[in-house]
Amino acid sequence: MIQVASIGYPRIGPKRELKKALEQFWKGEIQEQDLHNVAKNLRKQNWQTQKSAGVDLISSNDFSFYDQVLDAICLLGAVPKRYKWDGQEVNLTTYFAMARGSQTADLDVPALEMTKWFDTNYHYLVPELSAEQTFKLSSNKPFEEYEEAKQAGFDTKPIILGPLTFLLLAKGIDGFNTINLLDKILPIYKQIVEKFSQLGAEWIQIDEPILVKDLDSNVVSKIKDTLNQIKGAAGNCKILLATYFEDLNEDVKNQVFESNVDVVHLDLVRGSKNKEYVKNSNKKLSLGLVDGRNVWKTNLQEKINFIKDNISNDVIIASSCPLLHSPYDLELEQKVPVEIKRWLSFAKQKLLELNVIKGFINEGSHQEALDNNAADIHDRETSKLIHDNAVKDRIKTINKSITERKSSYVDRAKIQKNIFSLPKYPTTTIGSFPQTTDVRQARAKFKRGELDETSYEKFLEEKTIDTIRKQESIGIDVIVHGEFERNDMVEYFGEQLKGFTFTSSGFVQSYGSRCVKPPIIFGNVSRPKPMTVRWSKFAQEQTKQIVKGMLTGPITILQWSFVRDDQPRKFTAQEIGFAIRDEVEDLEKNGIRMIQIDEPALREGLPLKKKDWKDYLSWSVDCFKISAAVVKDETQIHTHMCYAEFEDIIDSIAALDADVISIETSRSRMELLTTFEKFKYPNEVGPGVYDIHSPRVPSQDEMKILIEKASKLIDPSRIWVNPDCGLKTRGWPETIDALTKMVNAAKELRVS
Ligand code: GLN
Ligand code: ZN
Repeated sequence: MIQVASIGYPRIGPKRELKKALEQFWKGEIQEQDLHNVAKNLRKQNWQTQKSAGVDLISSNDFSFYDQVLDAICLLGAVPKRYKWDGQEVNLTTYFAMARGSQTADLDVPALEMTKWFDTNYHYLVPELSAEQTFKLSSNKPFEEYEEAKQAGFDTKPIILGPLTFLLLAKGIDGFNTINLLDKILPIYKQIVEKFSQLGAEWIQIDEPILVKDLDSNVVSKIKDTLNQIKGAAGNCKILLATYFEDLNEDVKNQVFESNVDVVHLDLVRGSKNKEYVKNSNKKLSLGLVDGRNVWKTNLQEKINFIKDNISNDVIIASSCPLLHSPYDLELEQKVPVEIKRWLSFAKQKLLELNVIKGFINEGSHQEALDNNAADIHDRETSKLIHDNAVKDRIKTINKSITERKSSYVDRAKIQKNIFSLPKYPTTTIGSFPQTTDVRQARAKFKRGELDETSYEKFLEEKTIDTIRKQESIGIDVIVHGEFERNDMVEYFGEQLKGFTFTSSGFVQSYGSRCVKPPIIFGNVSRPKPMTVRWSKFAQEQTKQIVKGMLTGPITILQWSFVRDDQPRKFTAQEIGFAIRDEVEDLEKNGIRMIQIDEPALREGLPLKKKDWKDYLSWSVDCFKISAAVVKDETQIHTHMCYAEFEDIIDSIAALDADVISIETSRSRMELLTTFEKFKYPNEVGPGVYDIHSPRVPSQDEMKILIEKASKLIDPSRIWVNPDCGLKTRGWPETIDALTKMVNAAKELRVS
């Protein structure tokens, strides 16, 4: 017999109701009780959706006001001292202070650090743990939600973030190894499962996605005992251990399978080893068959065959990972063309897919749904919309003549130094300038048809000219056009490329109340016509100084989209690489002499397991080079990366062979540059000298000190001076002030 489990459902609301309520609450427009009411309704709606979709194991405690890791911090009483927590049940004020910082008379503190959740675009708040850390059950949220569901008529399976993932994702203060806290934290976990058992829960789901990573043998040796201790305290409750995002290494698998947990959930969409473990496993499994991170319909017959071939006993089926990473409901979708819509499946549809598999295997029902699914799958496979042979042929031509610049960096640099004759410590910015309300309003009006194209273009031209004049008068050496025509650095390109489509409803949570609506790459990608030439050319015509062209790189476009799953990501990235290459070539032809190709997402695309890094880095670096290497030696290629930890991948950064790279360094006070120094990074570097995430304007001296610090690590003849990232979220007054000080700092150092 087959049962269906929901291992986590999205929480932001089908119409982003939670986002709206949170933002109103933060502005003081609604009361705490109103916020709770919205949340309660959403939870009920989610449970109802799961029940109607035939889910047997309905999830609770997958709801969160901000983030599930933050919820775990509260549950375990691991609130850092600076939030002045009173030690009682953690209230919403303390909760949101950790999430967003607080600037009240009582509490003036920054938020907890935030970082990406595994290799997804979801961000979690990073727990901070010290050697003296103590833990104490400090939140009733999971229990209250369980009871709330029960009262509403739903018997749920609460989801708790597991101790190993919690500890290993935490930051140990002063380099403290957080796994050492395992013995201290386990008693709280035991208390939690005991309490659920008293409340009468049949199932508890413990989430341990960290188990898919490469773990130290010290950690591996603790897995079985940890799980057994939790199971031991759970009374009559069954424990479902959820692992996801990749397969388990053999050593981890052995520990997990030998433990006493009742069911192990495996991601069967990513990685290949998990499929092997399914065969002749004597552990009861939950099979993650339906892709929880992408938007494509599942080939149901294929999954049914897989189950029939491999499973003889009872089994649970589920999505590969929590559906937090899927949009809500395809029925709400209004923008995707109908031909493509029939290929898609959002969270609700994914549960229905599982129900069809269950129905067919358990009782031979759902034949019609199965036939429809087969027809949709066939339609997609054979669609003319997807296949473009010219593009497929083009990626077969990749060789050194496409990926390599004509001359080495050393030779190019000589030529470029001569023709550009820039001063020492040349100044520039990363591309965007403030996207003020007037810019966003004009774009919205244009999209709604309330502003005609000529007037909109005129508006953008004026903005661009004004921004160029401002840069000239500040004294910036290499100018940018400001990116006013762009809504978003991926969407802007996706909208102009073949093979992309966009949704009206495909939101997924990025962090807190922030959602993103990734484009969908459904077919072979190509560039029908120039995308940015019009604006770069226009900008260059307005000034005698050099204007840098601005493009988003292939890996970032790939990483921030829903990518087709019917060919390797590598091929899709190569296609995008060629599309950008065509654009680079056209920019050069139109007199643009410096071109920046942004790759802020290169680092985050790194696979979860080290063994897969080399392959990823090799093709992703090549894709960047496909887009860049078409230019003459005289044309200078820049790239930009932010929020990056480069230590592990510095050789790949060097292999990009960009003439100049600008990076985020100011928050780490140039620490990052030591990596560049140690590696003897050969090309030019623009270490960010001020943080653009905050409105604070640093002093000229502060920036001067940072440039001096950088000059000790990198030869000053190869240093550029720029902010950390684009300025689109900033206001004009602080931008002008900060850039003026930045330019003056560089000027001061030129003469000294
Ligand atoms: N050129 C982009 C900008 O300035 C880069 C943004 C980014 O790195 N995230 O906005
Ligand atoms: Zn950036």
